[in-house]
Amino acid sequence: MTKSFHTEVVHNHIDQEKALNSKSTPIYQTSAFAFRDLDHLESYYAGQTPYSYSRENNPNTDELGRSVAALEGAPAGVASSSGISAIMAGILSVAESGDHIVTAEDLYGGTHQLITKELASFGIEYTMVSFADEQAVKDAIQPNTKLLYSESVSNPFLRVENIEVLVEMGREHGIRTMIDNTFATPYLLQPYKQGVDLVVHSATKYIGGHSDVTSGVVVGHEDLIAKAKRKVIGLGTNLSPFEAWLTQRGSKTLALRMKQQSENAELVARALSEDSGIERVFYPEKVSERGKGAIVTIELNHNADVEAFFKSLGWIKLAPTLAGVETTVSYPIRTSHRSLTEEERKNIGINDYVIRLSIGIEEAEDIIAQFREAIQHSI
Ligand SMILES: *Cc1c(COP(=O)(O)O)cnc(C)c1O
Repeated sequence: MTKSFHTEVVHNHIDQEKALNSKSTPIYQTSAFAFRDLDHLESYYAGQTPYSYSRENNPNTDELGRSVAALEGAPAGVASSSGISAIMAGILSVAESGDHIVTAEDLYGGTHQLITKELASFGIEYTMVSFADEQAVKDAIQPNTKLLYSESVSNPFLRVENIEVLVEMGREHGIRTMIDNTFATPYLLQPYKQGVDLVVHSATKYIGGHSDVTSGVVVGHEDLIAKAKRKVIGLGTNLSPFEAWLTQRGSKTLALRMKQQSENAELVARALSEDSGIERVFYPEKVSERGKGAIVTIELNHNADVEAFFKSLGWIKLAPTLAGVETTVSYPIRTSHRSLTEEERKNIGINDYVIRLSIGIEEAEDIIAQFREAIQHSI
């Protein structure tokens, strides 16, 4: 029987404990697995025994990789210590020293830093362009370009990537494509099914969903994921069993959380767009049939007292993250986009008045009332 997303997300854990019938997967909090004898040890290297050393393989991290792959409709996945290390493993699975990648310019701040600062030490060059401009992407492609990289829904202005066009461009030029699907989650979008080669998640965000774990997953073709996994092992960016278990547990309610959070976000976006204290509300016109996601970005009027806004948020916390079940706000200019130059920020449109709202599962009316109060204090 084929399961719907809502059923799949709850039931796609591996059945490790057939003998004991434990209902949830136990935590294999062990750094290594013992062998009965030398034949048993050899059987690991022959691929007949699954586990030896937890940096290489562990039932909990394996479960998370496979589980997110299943939600994305991809054949394979590997979990790692963070979204950033998953992105790095994905990029290194297709590009090496001497290669070049083309990326969107409106990337998550940490990804921007990875690509502009860290990948240079691996000898990988990049060109950043606006992916809203198809010709600019084509013009940036060089003979040594190995990857087109973007985000399905961008941060913080929520530009929705045209994945069909991206896949088409990649195929036309024989270049791999990779999408960060963190903001949309597989509940809203499944880029692998649309032809993207690699899909990556900061599972710290919606996949985990409870702001209690830092983890990442990259999914895609088996050959690419095998390479990505070798990078995770070789660079030591593996995820711990407990963090994998926490992420996996959180993921079971992904469909319910995304449904509620997207519905709330739509109501918040609508209410705030009518508020005279706000210059602009950024919220996508369409992401998928299921909704438009749970992030709303606002730009306060340019004479607003931003400090007063942050001081008047009551139960809503200012936190440099997103996607938890609680509504939070983030201040891109001082957090996610802090490391960008003034000019880079200006190009993207980030200024002192831009605030990103991550809408939670609370009652929409309460969320709206609390934001209205903060805006009132900022006028
Ligand atoms: C948070 C985030 C990342 C980085 O993930 P970490 O888990 O913090 O390493 C990458 N991309 C997006 C879109 C994010 O929101």
